[in-house]
Amino acid sequence: MLKIIEDNLIKLEARLQNAASACHRDRASFSLLAVSKTQAAEALRECYKLGQRHFGENYLQEALDKQVKLNDLSITWHFIGPIQSNKTRAIAENFDWVHSVDRVKIARRLSEQRPKAMPPIKLCLQVNLDAEESKSGVALNQIAELAEEITNLPGVQLRGLMAIPMKLDDPKAQQLSFNRLFKALESLQKTLPAQPLDTLSMGMSGDLEAAIAAGSTLVRVGTDIFGARRQ
Ligand SMILES: *Cc1c(COP(=O)(O)O)cnc(C)c1O
Repeated sequence: MLKIIEDNLIKLEARLQNAASACHRDRASFSLLAVSKTQAAEALRECYKLGQRHFGENYLQEALDKQVKLNDLSITWHFIGPIQSNKTRAIAENFDWVHSVDRVKIARRLSEQRPKAMPPIKLCLQVNLDAEESKSGVALNQIAELAEEITNLPGVQLRGLMAIPMKLDDPKAQQLSFNRLFKALESLQKTLPAQPLDTLSMGMSGDLEAAIAAGSTLVRVGTDIFGARRQ
């Protein structure tokens, strides 16, 4: 398993480097989030041994189980799945980042439930870029209002935006979607100049080149690191 993950990570890193050079960006200007949903704790451990530190999980109970098994490692944990209100306490207590906030109620609960001894939990607002009914996320024209409500909450720190755009195969079309998220962050930075809005969480296995070209600071990759998901 180590060998497969190692080969995949080497290939992925080359791909990230190429994507960076293709748009004249520095590879250090964006990071890799390893999306480990459905993968066993041992797979994350192997990935960690190879230097990966940021892991993203979608399902709370599964993530908590892995966190117990991996508590000897200094992993930065990102929650990237849909959030029900009854899950906010465990998320507030066990994660460093949450990418999937799209309602003020969830942000308020995370803020209230964040243990006082921990730094504020870092948040991205999930944006429904293509107004797809099946997808969660705040609408583009409602980002500013939601963001303003969130900046007053002491237990959370708003850091940027996240999106999962409609699946498109043409990289040019993919990039147009990602450009819209880039512009949304730019405009939010103008609305809230005091806020450290430095994060654009966008790009997955199938569209990371387009996301990097459009200014992604954090690509979220699952399949191309761990292989197809176990279901
Ligand atoms: C599963 C998932 C990913 C990773 O997708 P891959 O296509 O496997 O790279 C990224 N972001 C989110 C929110 C996901 O749920």
